[in-house]
Amino acid sequence: MSTYFVIAEHLQGVLTETTFEALGAARNLADATGGQVVGVVLGHEVSELAAQMAAADKVLVVDHPSLAHYSPEGYVKALEPLLQEHRPRLAIFQNTAIGMDLAPYLAARLDWPLVAYCNALRAENGAIVTTSQIYGGKVMAECRLDDGPAMVTVLAGAFPADDGRAGNSPSVEQVTPSTLNGLHTRFLQLNEPETGDVDITKADVIVAVGRGIQSEDNIEVAEELAQALGGVVAASRPVVDAGWLPRTRQVGKSGQKVKPKLYLALGISGAPEHVEGMKDAELIIAVNTDPNAPIFDVAHYGVVADLFDIVDALLETLEK
Ligand SMILES: Cc1cc2nc3c(=O)[nH]c(=O)nc-3n(C[C@H](O)[C@H](O)[C@H](O)COP(=O)(O)OP(=O)(O)OC[C@H]3O[C@@H](n4cnc5c(N)ncnc54)[C@H](O)[C@@H]3O)c2cc1C
Repeated sequence: MSTYFVIAEHLQGVLTETTFEALGAARNLADATGGQVVGVVLGHEVSELAAQMAAADKVLVVDHPSLAHYSPEGYVKALEPLLQEHRPRLAIFQNTAIGMDLAPYLAARLDWPLVAYCNALRAENGAIVTTSQIYGGKVMAECRLDDGPAMVTVLAGAFPADDGRAGNSPSVEQVTPSTLNGLHTRFLQLNEPETGDVDITKADVIVAVGRGIQSEDNIEVAEELAQALGGVVAASRPVVDAGWLPRTRQVGKSGQKVKPKLYLALGISGAPEHVEGMKDAELIIAVNTDPNAPIFDVAHYGVVADLFDIVDALLETLEK
C-alpha cells in the first residue's frame, strides 16, 4: 500500500493553512491509489495538533524539547531516520521557508528525487505526475515519479485545505527521537512581523495599487475606494519599496499570495512576479493606461483608462 507522508508546519500552537492544503493533496492521491496518509508533527507538547490532522489515517508525533521551535538541524535530524524507516511513496513538504529549507536538505542526504513548486499532483498508471509552476508562473513543468520514495514541495493555495480538514480522528503514534542530543544550533527568538496591520491573505476584496498610483499621497484615494467596497489596499513591490505601504501589503513572489473574491489592479503592469501572487483571485479587474500591459492577460475585465478617473467614477457610483 502506498504511503503519503505530510510534514506539518505550525506556529505558536496553530497548524498552518498550507499544512491542511498538503493534507488535502495527500488525501486525494491516497484515495485515488488505495493508499494511506501519514501526518508527521514535530515539536514539543504538540499532541493536540496531531488530532487536528483529520484527513490523515495516522499521525506520527516526534516530541522533544529541542523541537519546541523550528530549526533546520533539529528537524532534519528528527525526520531523516523517520523517512528512512518508512520509505513513503511520497513525502509532501510545503513550498514555504521551512519546506524549502528541509526538503532539498533531506533529498540530498537520502538521495531521493525532489520536485519543488508543485501546484498539481495526480496518480497515473502507477506513477505520480507532478506539475510545477516555474519561471514566475510562465512555464508549467510536468514530472513523472515512477516509483518511491520521492519528495515534493507544494505551493500555497494550490490544493483544497477543506479536504485536509475532513475525515475521522487519525490514530496517533508517539515517536521517541534518539538523534537530537548535542545540536549545534539553538533557537533564540521569534521576530514577529509588523503588527496592527491588515492580513491581505484573508481579504475578500483587494484594491491593489502599482507604480501608476504615482505618489504616497494618492494612496488615500485607494483607501477610500477599498473602504467603500469593504476591502483592503494592497500593492505591487515598487509601492512597498518606496515605503508608501508596509511590506505586509505586498502581493507577489516576494510578498503574499492572495486569493480574494475581487482583485482590482490599479496602475499595475502585471509583471510575472506580481501575477504569481494574485492570478488565482476569483475576479480580476485591471485598470491601466497601456492597452498592452500584461496585466490584461490575466484580468477577467480590463479598462484602458486613467486609474484616477475610474476610482472617482466608482466612488461616485458607490456613494449614490
Ligand atoms: C526576484 C524578484 C521578486 C519580485 N517580487 C515581486 C513581488 O512580490 N511583487 C511585485 O509586485 N513585484 C515583484 N517584483 C518586481 C516586478 O518584476 C515588477 O517590477 C513590479 O511588479 C512592477 O510593479 P508595477 O506594476 O507597480 O510597476 P510598473 O511595471 O512600473 O507598472 C506601472 C503600470 O502603471 C500604469 N500606469 C501609469 N500611470 C497610470 C494611470 N494614471 N492609470 C492607470 N495606469 C497607469 C503603466 O501603464 C504601467 O503598466 C519582483 C522582482 C524580482 C526580480
